[in-house]
Amino acid sequence: MAGKRNEKPSMDIFKVLLEASKEKKKAKREQLLKSIGVKEFFEEGNIKIDMKTCKGVECKFCIKVCPTNALYWKTGEIGITEDLCVYCASCVLNCMVDNCIEVRRKRENGTNERFSNPLDVLVMLNNINTRNRMKVIESVLPDEETYLKRYRKPIFETESRKNNY
Ligand code: SF4
Ligand code: SF4
Repeated sequence: MAGKRNEKPSMDIFKVLLEASKEKKKAKREQLLKSIGVKEFFEEGNIKIDMKTCKGVECKFCIKVCPTNALYWKTGEIGITEDLCVYCASCVLNCMVDNCIEVRRKRENGTNERFSNPLDVLVMLNNINTRNRMKVIESVLPDEETYLKRYRKPIFETESRKNNY
């Protein structure tokens, strides 16, 4: 019995506090984005800018293209309001320096993505387009039989064409 009295509860208080602060942050972020009419598409993410390689005042492209005004010019460098960033990667696509901005994000299906130069973003966009094209093709031509029915010419037509040449 005495041994049982000394047993510590198994709850990890640090984990609980961390979860609570995450929830609080999420709620604040949701409220902020809702107030500007922006929808979140990603479970989570983060953005980093390397101030050592950033061209700063000579450039500011990222500030111009950010759809949520998450980026701004503060004394001498780019500032980030992380609660406004929706990890769209437009800033990476338009940054003139490779690996200066890094955006990481997690999709609802658990896929993790990372972008740090325009090519990364273009490859992702191309993959999405390809998947969408495949979906359209599959909806119109779900199997080989449908394809042949639609595109195979009847033999007699092919033969009569041949005879006409
Ligand atoms: S990832 Fe999108 S929302 Fe975030 S800072 Fe860059 S452009 Fe703005
Ligand atoms: S686009 Fe890139 S190089 Fe230009 S200011 Fe933004 S982070 Fe710096």
